[in-house]
Amino acid sequence: MKLWAKILIGFVLGAIVGLLVGPPAAALKPLGDLFIRLIKMLIVPLVFSSLVIGASSMGDVRKLGRVGAKTLAYYLVTTAVAVTIGLILATLLHPGAGFQIPTETYKAKPLPSLVETLLNIIPTNPLGAMVSDNMLQIIAFALFMGVAIALIGDKGKPVHAFFDSLAEVMYKITGIVMEFAPIGVFALMAWVTATNGPDVLVPLAKVIFVVYLGCFLHAAVVYSSAVSIFARMNPLRYFRGFFDASLVAFSTCSSSATLPVSLRCAQENLGVPKDIASFALPLGATINMDGTSIYQGVCALFIAEVYGIPLGMPQYLTIILTATLASIGTAGVPGAGMIMLTMVLQAVGLPLDGILLIAGIDRVLDMARTCVNVTGDGAGAVVVAATEGELKTLPAGTTLAGK
Ligand code: ASP
Repeated sequence: MKLWAKILIGFVLGAIVGLLVGPPAAALKPLGDLFIRLIKMLIVPLVFSSLVIGASSMGDVRKLGRVGAKTLAYYLVTTAVAVTIGLILATLLHPGAGFQIPTETYKAKPLPSLVETLLNIIPTNPLGAMVSDNMLQIIAFALFMGVAIALIGDKGKPVHAFFDSLAEVMYKITGIVMEFAPIGVFALMAWVTATNGPDVLVPLAKVIFVVYLGCFLHAAVVYSSAVSIFARMNPLRYFRGFFDASLVAFSTCSSSATLPVSLRCAQENLGVPKDIASFALPLGATINMDGTSIYQGVCALFIAEVYGIPLGMPQYLTIILTATLASIGTAGVPGAGMIMLTMVLQAVGLPLDGILLIAGIDRVLDMARTCVNVTGDGAGAVVVAATEGELKTLPAGTTLAGK
């Protein structure tokens, strides 16, 4: 049986077991945590080695610049479209109608300044960046290394060969770890449905519905059009090829933790070359969060509605801008989008306490948004590879790995 089918079975069975057994099924969580730890273990060596190889095999700095600019443009545009979809749906469907205002107080997280954020991309100690999992710093240093290896020619070859081999080893481990994915996904789904029973979900069913609908529409419309227009790829083939990554994202709620799986799907199932996949995907997992921005758009309007605060066009535009920026700043870990929501709420003067309403169901919203975040990264990698004329065409229904 194919891996994606096994993961899907784990996913559905987990959800059923969690619903039937209820809270005791939460005891399965350690199996899910084990799976998350196994894939997280690979992130730093895998991203670093594959990005060094990616950057050094792009050959010239101009290509790197061009690929970088395209990737960033794609990520920014799709994110802005995503918030807009969230805002339109929330305006039409009124998720906050008939809701109670919370009484506790929620404190905003102080946000670093723009200059600080930009400076922070450059690590003062590359090993420190790896130790503390700072993805943007790891990307920055890997790009410098890759470019320098290309610039020094023959002398760089041993380092290139070393990282090439390291990346292969990490891919192999990813393959081994993925054999455990069906069980990990089963346990995570059982835990989520066991701890989020009907009592938690029903009162906020409308918000959940609007966020899920926004995520679904965004993937169905934006990613389908992107891969079919730019890459002439059948959208169903895209979603199927990237399915393992989308499911792992849905159940782990972490773009970063899904990275090893996304890298593998993009290269083995979709024909994205290594240099582009290893550049576009880690960058996407760090800054491209379309699902998060849909969620932020919906939640901002939900909170405005609950508190009876009217919003006009200027506030809508502010939400689009801040949610785009906030989603860039959102770390690819569970729950990060909710913390960054404070930035959006503050920008339009909405009460931060509104977050308390959403906090109880955040995990369920996080699953959909992370799934879209990661699926959008994959579509970005396919689009960039296609516009560079480098998307490998695999015979329909097969993959490079023959899976
Ligand atoms: N969990 C999301 C991710 O990893 C981020 C978020 O909380 O919105 O992509």
